[in-house]
Amino acid sequence: MLSGVSWITIVKMSENATSQLLARIVGKCPICKLPPRRHAWSQLASTICGDPSFQESLANFFQLFRTHEWMRLRAYQGFDPMRDAVVVYAVRCPDGGALVLAVRSNFDLYAPDELYGCEIIDAKASDALCTQLENWEDI
Ligand SMILES: [Zn+2]
Repeated sequence: MLSGVSWITIVKMSENATSQLLARIVGKCPICKLPPRRHAWSQLASTICGDPSFQESLANFFQLFRTHEWMRLRAYQGFDPMRDAVVVYAVRCPDGGALVLAVRSNFDLYAPDELYGCEIIDAKASDALCTQLENWEDI
């Protein structure tokens, strides 16, 4: 039962958890060499993993990630609360440029989230990507 707890509170809690997760995973931003305070994040894409039937889709997902085809990657918004997922986040650096992180998010809350990849994009690519994304949250 969720009595007494509004959905807004739950969304805020999960956003805070994501901010903390990204701060921990990034450690120091490779662009500005500082801990990622004053950086903002937005979720770019997600896809379910950990099941053979998603293997081909997952391979395409990582191909798009590695080749920086962010708008095609954005078409992936798969999520199932009962399954593991790979979530891609954009983290905007105030110095210009951004990091794009692929993080394995485990359905089992006690299994640690794992960084699968980190791509660094320059200010021009970052501006093109960031204007397409909504719901930016501060880390
Ligand atoms: Zn930075």
